[in-house]
Amino acid sequence: DHTIIDVDGIKVGGKDLVFIAGPCAVESKEQLDEIASTIKNCGAQMLRGGAYKLRTSPYAFQGLQKEGLVMLNNVSLKYGVPVVSEITSEQEIDDFIKYVDIIQVGARNMQNYELLKKLGKLNKPILLKRGMACSIDELLCAAEYILLQGNPNVILCERGIKTFETATRNTLDLSAVPIIKKLSHLPVIVDPSHATGRKDIVKEMSLAAIAAGADGLLIEVNDHASDALSDGNQAIDSKTLKEIIETSKKIREIIE
Ligand code: PEP
Ligand code: MN
Repeated sequence: DHTIIDVDGIKVGGKDLVFIAGPCAVESKEQLDEIASTIKNCGAQMLRGGAYKLRTSPYAFQGLQKEGLVMLNNVSLKYGVPVVSEITSEQEIDDFIKYVDIIQVGARNMQNYELLKKLGKLNKPILLKRGMACSIDELLCAAEYILLQGNPNVILCERGIKTFETATRNTLDLSAVPIIKKLSHLPVIVDPSHATGRKDIVKEMSLAAIAAGADGLLIEVNDHASDALSDGNQAIDSKTLKEIIETSKKIREIIE
């Protein structure tokens, strides 16, 4: 049977699509407050925002860390939206249990098996992103590390893989969606933002992901993208988010 994960009453992997939206990184209370109310009005059910950022350059903004998690928790309580944030090491687990509703394991940590085993001891939902150079089989084995420890709440996320193509940040492997759906009972969502790195094609790839059978989307949204401290190039505005959500629901109805 398909696994359906209940996050404060929101069902991931059920008949309704799940939309998780928000900025790449938590930058301030004001930013988070504004975006939480905006994405909720657009129809997204959950808020994303990185507090611990694994940046390619050590000189780039590294995130607000624990302070960012506290901000996420505060807006979550204020707007009634569950929050998703990326964990980067096992030392952070206690804070993530306290402040976050879904713990994200990013592409760079998909094969951090000791971390996965620790997360397997929790009962919090885990959003496991595919490593940028990892096969579907490796992703499924990484998920097993969590499941085997007793945590059944794993959501898989296709976020693009490294290829020779340079027109996009990564190459969105959409065939992974129906393949994983055949091989696994776990919910599968798609991140069109990191997959493409380009806000101008996020809408098209979002809709294609839903047509391919994804259970939902994880999208970077920022109405002040030009001021963003990370990933401004791939963040769509809230108007586009609303269009994506509305059209996705129509596609879902057609393919059901
Ligand atoms: C993210 O979702 O914030 C992120 C860093 O994504 P990825 O791990 O897929 O690069
Ligand atoms: Mn990002």
